[in-house]
Amino acid sequence: MPEKVFDCVVIGSGVGGSCAAAMMAHYGYKVLLAEKRANLGGRFSTMEIDGFKCPTGALIVTRGTELEKTFKVTGAEFDIVKAAQVSWKIGDTVYPVSGPGALKTLWSLFTKLPPRLYRYAFMSTLRLFGAMGEILFFKFLNLFRKEEDYVYRRHEENPVTFREWIERYTDDKVVIQSVHAFISALFSAINDFECPASDVFAFGASMANPFKPHTFGFARHGNVELMKSLARVVTQKGGEVMTETEVKEIKISNGVATGVVLVGPQGEFEVAAKTVISNAGPSATMNMVGERHYPEPYVRKLKQTLRPAPIVMGNIASDVPLIDHKGLVVITGTKTIVGAVNLTYHTRDVAPEGQHLLWTFATPATCTSKIDKEMEIRHHMEDLETAFPLFKQHGRVLDLMVKDIDDDLPCLRTWPGYDMPVTTPIPNLFNVGDGVKDFGWTGCPACAKSAWKVVKKIRRDYPL
Ligand SMILES: Cc1cc2nc3c(=O)[nH]c(=O)nc-3n(C[C@H](O)[C@H](O)[C@H](O)COP(=O)(O)OP(=O)(O)OC[C@H]3O[C@@H](n4cnc5c(N)ncnc54)[C@H](O)[C@@H]3O)c2cc1C
Repeated sequence: MPEKVFDCVVIGSGVGGSCAAAMMAHYGYKVLLAEKRANLGGRFSTMEIDGFKCPTGALIVTRGTELEKTFKVTGAEFDIVKAAQVSWKIGDTVYPVSGPGALKTLWSLFTKLPPRLYRYAFMSTLRLFGAMGEILFFKFLNLFRKEEDYVYRRHEENPVTFREWIERYTDDKVVIQSVHAFISALFSAINDFECPASDVFAFGASMANPFKPHTFGFARHGNVELMKSLARVVTQKGGEVMTETEVKEIKISNGVATGVVLVGPQGEFEVAAKTVISNAGPSATMNMVGERHYPEPYVRKLKQTLRPAPIVMGNIASDVPLIDHKGLVVITGTKTIVGAVNLTYHTRDVAPEGQHLLWTFATPATCTSKIDKEMEIRHHMEDLETAFPLFKQHGRVLDLMVKDIDDDLPCLRTWPGYDMPVTTPIPNLFNVGDGVKDFGWTGCPACAKSAWKVVKKIRRDYPL
């Protein structure tokens, strides 16, 4: 028998779950947020290693999206240090791609491009003149919509990969390598030779609005503090937050969700719920419901559509900075590492006195099938030595995380453009998170956006 009744049970405290829980509580719903792990936040959390506050996944917090808006609306503290700087390491030179120096970079890169690409690039630059301070590469690509209108269509209609598209203009090795690193670094660690061009353009278009530029930053005291801040909204509004408490089953009666069965430190118990929001991913949600409760077309679509993305991520300690550039540095010409951030340039709060914390991430050799973990670790270690010359003498690996496509928490539950809807065949059961992203969105902002969609639907269809 249910022990308690909630207006809404949220399963999982990742970005999507925490944003949904805080907003539901803010709008007056009685919420239970249940998280099976000890820490809140899922892939946007913090693990303490030797006094360092290491991210469990995401580091880059895009500003001005539904993620930041959630904090504003609910009154939760959004303590972010600004770092709207992207640099691009090509060979031994590091080019600023945003902020001061970006214009010079653009010019020097364009003059190195092959003639056909150069012509497009030059035209694009003229049209983009007013928006130079932003992520120029995506703005530049965005403009191609008019020239190559296919790229904005769904990939099902036109499965041209980004690599195939760029190879129409050039076979220059440096351009190809640079584009690979840039796309992988900014497009959710998916290989440019595996992802549809249409998705990259849609993503670029959504992120690159010259009238409302998106900047980014990092959580000053570690990601988990932001998630705790959202959880506090739930408890302050009379709801409950339970960690180390796993939802085993979503109860269905007469085609609607009536509650959940949980297992926590106090044993197994059941609560009743008027609505259920799952942040566990569409497949895990179906398993908690039982496949028999879903119509066959939905089950088929889910199994055919979802395409998880892998990633390799390093948390590296050192007694001197291993790179001398602030913000995100996109790294070209390595085996697998495509991006790095020296977090301690931005906040001292994440490392012991006199120490530095470098975050590295790599796109595995393939994003379409299971990866070779040993090879990926070997390549990451080799890249650390070649891309960061001071690593061998001054650095040490705190954690090297290899997230395969079957990991409980992969890079993304599905590639951008391969998503399920937030609604499910059960009318009062919803999904949030990066398995149900809007087309053209990715990462944490996409998860927060999914929460906004669900909260809007619940407020409309299940008013208090
Ligand atoms: C290495 C790495 C780097 C990344 N870098 C970036 C970046 O820089 N910027 C960016 O925007 N995005 C980045 N991403 C992607 C981003 O981290 C994810 O898209 C986002 O955090 C996913 O959030 P989510 O809402 O899907 O929840 P998740 O993070 O998937 O959290 C789900 C939560 O639900 C809990 N849960 C699952 N099942 C149950 C159950 N049955 N009962 C109770 N609890 C349950 C899990 O324990 C987990 O805490 C990165 C990802 C990785 C892995």
